[in-house]
Amino acid sequence: MKKLAGQDRTITAKWRPATQAIRGGTARSHYGETSEAIFLTSGYAYDCAADAAARFAGEQQGMTYSRLQNPTVEMLEERIALMEGAEACRAMASGMAAMTAALLCQLSQGDHLVAGRAAFGSCRWLTDTLLPRFGIEATIVDARDDAAWARAIRPNTKVFFFETPANPTMDIVDLAAVCGLARDRGITSIVDNAFATPVLQRPMDYGADIVAYSATKMMDGQGRVLAGAVCGRAKFINETLLAFTRNTGPTLSAFNAWVVLKGLETLDLRIRRQSENALAVARFLATRVPRLLYPGHESHPQHALAMRQMAAGGTILSLFVDGGRPQAHALLDALELVDISNNIGDSRSLMTHPASTTHAGLSAEVRAEMGVEEGMLRLNVGLEDPADVIEDLDRALKAARL
Ligand SMILES: *Cc1c(COP(=O)(O)O)cnc(C)c1O
Repeated sequence: MKKLAGQDRTITAKWRPATQAIRGGTARSHYGETSEAIFLTSGYAYDCAADAAARFAGEQQGMTYSRLQNPTVEMLEERIALMEGAEACRAMASGMAAMTAALLCQLSQGDHLVAGRAAFGSCRWLTDTLLPRFGIEATIVDARDDAAWARAIRPNTKVFFFETPANPTMDIVDLAAVCGLARDRGITSIVDNAFATPVLQRPMDYGADIVAYSATKMMDGQGRVLAGAVCGRAKFINETLLAFTRNTGPTLSAFNAWVVLKGLETLDLRIRRQSENALAVARFLATRVPRLLYPGHESHPQHALAMRQMAAGGTILSLFVDGGRPQAHALLDALELVDISNNIGDSRSLMTHPASTTHAGLSAEVRAEMGVEEGMLRLNVGLEDPADVIEDLDRALKAARL
């Protein structure tokens, strides 16, 4: 592999983010291919036995096995790190593999963490069900309340874990306040930045220690592959996280890494356009539904904070109907253009009823406490002409008697 400017931090560091998204991390084989190659190989061959031994001893540069290193995956890791403004990044098989690894690689029996209440269903399963089984206690707080984070700290608190905007309640966490508190108290902050992406929000600029992603969502951007990533300081990634992931194996396939590399080339364009489309849809819905939650719309209770730390409102909004699950389902069933789908980040507009899909695995009490009501719908606004999406919603709203 030929190292290119894209792998030289003395050069890439001065590139602007939209340039990093296209060229950051690129390496070339001796063929000189312009687009990154897909290295679908599980292993690597050595010129001689001594080379194999030297590579295993860490005395010779090079790859040994794709659970540990892969050229295509490494290109993606460097590109995401550059876009995030992080020292290092490790790609993972899925967003949940990223969240699980980020937590388990550093928490041990007897440790405590504080986590945001509104979160992706599986993230809540980690904090509420999995971690306690290993003697790691979690305190769940209303992440919008800065004082609640401070009150929840115990002598053994190791980690703060939250999303902003949160899925699907669109709660916004004050990154500077909460990450600053964590830093002051020697606690590691982990931000799940799936909804904002590095295009709209870079939590490390506000003091976050670790930023974790479901790259399945906006980074792929076209609903094709599962992928995840954890970004942080080189010492954390190379010593703490790598020991965990190399031995437990939540490795991203080279093919999926390549798909995400291609997705990142258009991330900036897509997220800015989809955010514009989402704002147009939010303005329409605000005139038609009893309640709406979109960080980029003035009606969002934390609109000012969202606009301080995000470059735009993002691609996702939640809307509410008064008629509970029957009316929410009737609205979904009347859609012609927008798909009924629980995925997000796709270039297609997708809508789901969180209480009966993404958050169905949580108890009714936890859903109620989080604000996942029976009449709530979540909409990922895609790249279609927003006028067509609005027409489809208008028709479906009327069919559902709204
Ligand atoms: C989708 C999602 C995840 C999980 O990611 P997968 O790639 O589906 O495993 C985690 N957090 C948030 C906020 C998500 O939207």
